[in-house]
Amino acid sequence: MANDVFFREENFLRKAQHDLLIRQEGSAAQGIRAELVQEYARLFRHARRMAGMGDRMQRTLNDLNHRLAASEERYRGIFENVVEGIFRARGAAADAVLVEANPALDSMLGRTADMAPLAEGMRVGALFASPAEREGFAQRLAETGRVRGFPAEILRPDGTRFWAELSASILPEGGADAEGPGMVVVVADVTERRRMMEEIYRLARTDSLTGLWNRGYFMDMAQRELARVRRERQPASIIMVDADHFKRVNDTHGHQVGDEALRCLARVLSDSVREADLPARLGGEEFVVLLPGAERAAATAVAERIRSTIRETCLRCPSGDCFCLTVSLGVAISPCAQDSLEHLIRRADAALYAAKNAGRNRVELCEGAA
Ligand code: GH3
Ligand code: MG
Ligand code: MG
Repeated sequence: MANDVFFREENFLRKAQHDLLIRQEGSAAQGIRAELVQEYARLFRHARRMAGMGDRMQRTLNDLNHRLAASEERYRGIFENVVEGIFRARGAAADAVLVEANPALDSMLGRTADMAPLAEGMRVGALFASPAEREGFAQRLAETGRVRGFPAEILRPDGTRFWAELSASILPEGGADAEGPGMVVVVADVTERRRMMEEIYRLARTDSLTGLWNRGYFMDMAQRELARVRRERQPASIIMVDADHFKRVNDTHGHQVGDEALRCLARVLSDSVREADLPARLGGEEFVVLLPGAERAAATAVAERIRSTIRETCLRCPSGDCFCLTVSLGVAISPCAQDSLEHLIRRADAALYAAKNAGRNRVELCEGAA
């Protein structure tokens, strides 16, 4: 471009220099004219260099603009298409106001295209279902300027909720439409992952046949409960329950009926104890209940209730036949919960063994218990 502009000037200068060479007369006017032509030539070279620089700067600027547009397009592509919700907000605390949100966030919040844009005036804090989580998020962001994978329950405008993990960064001054500091927040919906984790956790704690706590979880929880009642100097009791002649049930009615009988036994166990008690299936046709705070009279009453309810429950086979099940129970009491869990279980087991030997369908108390 600069070459086009300077083409005429260059020709004019060449012609003036040529004229000077032809006219050799040495008048003062001629000397001045030669100096002027030289000065003009110097200024011309300078102007052409400047114009060349201008051209190069323009090209660099064009290139930068082009790259900026491509980068903006790439950013837009991500912003519009990611499954995570993304929003920018003006302000750096919980009262920051949303200025832009992507379609994924709209759909997470149950918003449809015909609704007003989400960004209008909504405050970041309004997204949190729990004030404690809102404060925790704001505090972490204020402390470090960024938050990664912050778990929070998000409140939709219609009042429903979902679990999310929030990652956020404070944007420096001018980040959000050049009006003071801002923040950019990525919202990942983790409801399904959380549900699966809870399900895995539940499966790991419960017995799949009866739905009662399994041995592992019982042992953990019972240790904690025993320690608690020990601190409070309260008593604790253990009842061991074993189905009588259960092999015969399987042999006579089949394994499926046996399974149903175990489920029924578990229901009776659950219904016979208090909320604070801990019933579990230890394995096979053996069950256990920890009764925190229960002394001899209360524990034997519960054991007797379990025994009589089972005895009176009629179990029906698919064939229509009915039969009854009995259980034997062993009870061990620890007046100040000073016994270890293992010791209590051993004593209750010994009492159960005694109940079996004494003819089954009965409750026995461990010898030596208070
Ligand atoms: P006792 O009165 O001496 O306790 O006799 P029992 O037959 O109940 O005891 P034993 O230990 O000889 O047999 C236990 C039976 O329980 C054998 C086993 O097949 C059955 N059993 C264990 N777990 C299950 C189960 O999950 N489902 C079914 N249907 N039966 C089971
Ligand atoms: Mg048995
Ligand atoms: Mg057994």
